Amino acid sequence: MELNARIPTGPIEKIWDEHRFQMKLVNPANKRRYTVIVVGSGLAGASASATLAELGYRVKCFCFQDSPRRAHSIAAQGGINAAKNYQNDGDSVRRLFYDTVKGGDFRAREANVYRLAQVSVNIIDQCVAQGVPFAREYGGLLANRSFGGAQVSRTFYARGQTGQQLLLGAYQALERQIGLGAVQMYPRTEMLDLVVIDGVARGIVTRDLVTGKIESHAADAVVLGTGGYGNVFYLSTNAKGSNATAIWRAYKRGAAFGNPCFTQIHPTCIPQSGDHQSKLTLMSESLRNDGRVWVPKTKGDTRAPAEIPEGERDYYLERKYPSYGNLSPRDIASRAAKEVCDDGRGVGPGGRGVYLDFADAIRRLGRAAIEERYGNLFEMYERITGEDPYARPMRIYPAVHYTMGGLWVDYDLMSTVPGLHVIGEANFSDHGANRLGASALMQGLADGYFILPYTIGNYIASAKLAKVDASHAAFRDAEAAIAARTKRFLETKGTRTVDDFHRALGKIMWEFCGMTRTEAGLTTALERIPALRAEFWRDVNVPGSDVELNQALEKAGRVADFFELAELMCRDALQRKESCGGHFRLESQTPDGEARRDDAHFAYVAAWEYQGEGKAPVMHREPLEFENVHLAQRSYK
Ligand SMILES: Cc1cc2nc3c(=O)[nH]c(=O)nc-3n(C[C@H](O)[C@H](O)[C@H](O)COP(=O)(O)OP(=O)(O)OC[C@H]3O[C@@H](n4cnc5c(N)ncnc54)[C@H](O)[C@@H]3O)c2cc1C
Repeated sequence: MELNARIPTGPIEKIWDEHRFQMKLVNPANKRRYTVIVVGSGLAGASASATLAELGYRVKCFCFQDSPRRAHSIAAQGGINAAKNYQNDGDSVRRLFYDTVKGGDFRAREANVYRLAQVSVNIIDQCVAQGVPFAREYGGLLANRSFGGAQVSRTFYARGQTGQQLLLGAYQALERQIGLGAVQMYPRTEMLDLVVIDGVARGIVTRDLVTGKIESHAADAVVLGTGGYGNVFYLSTNAKGSNATAIWRAYKRGAAFGNPCFTQIHPTCIPQSGDHQSKLTLMSESLRNDGRVWVPKTKGDTRAPAEIPEGERDYYLERKYPSYGNLSPRDIASRAAKEVCDDGRGVGPGGRGVYLDFADAIRRLGRAAIEERYGNLFEMYERITGEDPYARPMRIYPAVHYTMGGLWVDYDLMSTVPGLHVIGEANFSDHGANRLGASALMQGLADGYFILPYTIGNYIASAKLAKVDASHAAFRDAEAAIAARTKRFLETKGTRTVDDFHRALGKIMWEFCGMTRTEAGLTTALERIPALRAEFWRDVNVPGSDVELNQALEKAGRVADFFELAELMCRDALQRKESCGGHFRLESQTPDGEARRDDAHFAYVAAWEYQGEGKAPVMHREPLEFENVHLAQRSYK
């Protein structure tokens, strides 16, 4: 496998401009002759589909929800970053670039991150033009707030519903193209395989989730914007439907998987309340602008928070990280919460919680101001916990939230399979080992509105694509393999539900490949996961049939893929004998408990190549070079 990132040479500020100039263009009159498949209608997929169609390409867009508007992106709460410097507080493209590379603990590709920071400013203009109702200052200018890992205010927001408002903008642009006939939309349709012909991505095979019909779709290029795979842990803040099937099947067709073990655990989620639970709820990081995180100084202190005097509280983030305080990055804030709970100072049932307290902010700004900023989040918290966060501090605890890993892509967002492009959370992304808050929306929209529309044109104009349609034998083979797998699920008639197996897999992953990782733990996981997977295939019970809406069948396919991906994640975590960002190997820490990187041996992207059923995957390395930022021990003190 060739792993060539194809990073253009030259000064980092100029390479994207120069690269665009060097690209081949497709004649406007010819664009309608090309079909592009986009799987996914979240911020990445919807923005890409709308833009490609606007340019003149024929687009087929797929999603498994009943409407593109219900993609998981609507869940995003807090905001989207951009280097507009509206606050005049010292922000710039270079600073956003620097913060992102540092925030990712120096495990991201410089050139991609710089481009991301550059186009961030266009995203805001684009969205405002679409009518996205960003919060505004009294005088009408767009407002900003702060997010973790940055000392400037560069986060644009729409109350606590930024993802929903941004998606409405992208969705309207997409609907316009659907109305014009330029985009053919396939809701409730799941991609189950990628079809590669003569080494090039030429289509996909799908299943209609309502009728069960298996269908083939040929195209000149395929784009995956299928989101992240945090649900491999069973419990996460992701939508229940988020899954890895599209990228996993593409991996098995030759697309390298980048840094699979890089997962983000978010520090501010509502603590798990019991074993019955199937989902965790995020409390946006934006709350840390005004909320102060603390636990009692004394172990086992069960007094109500209001009864614990100021002097007996430990505002541990402010104490440990005085420069960034409550806005320390997610990986650091999560580990700090775990540490105080492990120390016996956690609050709430089971002692797995810390306080996020707004009393100071309410005293300073008034309840109305807090309500205006975070009203919907407070309401959500109250509905779930039955506690009023205006009167009593919220209880929060870290939970799985985002996956920095994903399919490896080059500078043009193309995977190792020519013609297969990957955007948004589905690619291994620009966030290195830890994503900064409000940067996922920025990346998804940068990819979809401003990067892919150029690079895909260059691919189409440069590639010599033979005529292919869905009657090609490769499509028949893929369809037959899907039918055989479906039959196997339905005929197993075992005793345990898919969810039961998924929950068991999640427990292994959380224990051994979660917030902290060790060689012994990962080795144990690598024994337990294959054993549980074998049991899954022997004993899973999938009721119903394959010619109707059958959610157990949908889940069975996704969980089967999670089993295989989980193993790759543990393998990747095992080989990376350093700590960086969200990947914390207990064996590799500084005397004060911070992550210790090993740049001499691990300054690379691990890109895994599938070798076939039952064979160990091969790891390739893309060395990371830092010419524009100084490699340093990350410090937020
Ligand atoms: C609770 C929460 C809050 C967040 N808040 C923020 C925030 O404030 N700021 C920020 O920057 N980030 C935030 N994030 C992260 C951010 O929301 C996501 O990273 C981002 O929205 C992902 O967008 P996407 O387009 O890549 O994927 P998604 O929005 O997940 O969309 C995936 C699409 O792919 C489709 N799909 C998937 N698999 C298949 C398949 N096999 N066949 C057909 N279709 C398929 C789905 O139907 C869907 O349309 C948050 C995440 C969570 C969980």
